[in-house]
Amino acid sequence: MEVKMEMMNTVVVINDKGDKLEYQTDKYKITDKEIIIMNDDQKPIIVDLTTIKGYSICTVGSPRQIVPYEHHGAMVWTRSDLKGKHREYCLCFKCKKLNTRNREDNCNIANTLFDLDVKYSLTTPVFECPLFMEKEDECVC
Ligand code: SF4
Repeated sequence: MEVKMEMMNTVVVINDKGDKLEYQTDKYKITDKEIIIMNDDQKPIIVDLTTIKGYSICTVGSPRQIVPYEHHGAMVWTRSDLKGKHREYCLCFKCKKLNTRNREDNCNIANTLFDLDVKYSLTTPVFECPLFMEKEDECVC
């Protein structure tokens, strides 16, 4: 694989203990097994992909970086421009069937998604749904 030479990048790695490690570089190479981070006059840093939870290459100044942050006690990755926007985009928050105060009365699909989110530390906004019923006071037009 070719060596990427771009503007200054931050290689962000979450290791197997959940720690966030950051490396500044203008040259890196990614193979199936490792990330090789190069900096002039220094020995390359090798990150073994089998020993980490995840990584992202953030180009400094890019508006749509994939960034890590701690959410409900778990380190997760997200697009920086969508971070914390779940309620703003998810149809459920404008739907009559969502009842977050009483799971017994809540929509089955929303409950299933919630269980999945808790199990895997995901955030899953609903963008399309066949059963949506708009709340009277929530016009989405
Ligand atoms: S019906 Fe659809 S939009 Fe409404 S709460 Fe359930 S999953 Fe969300």
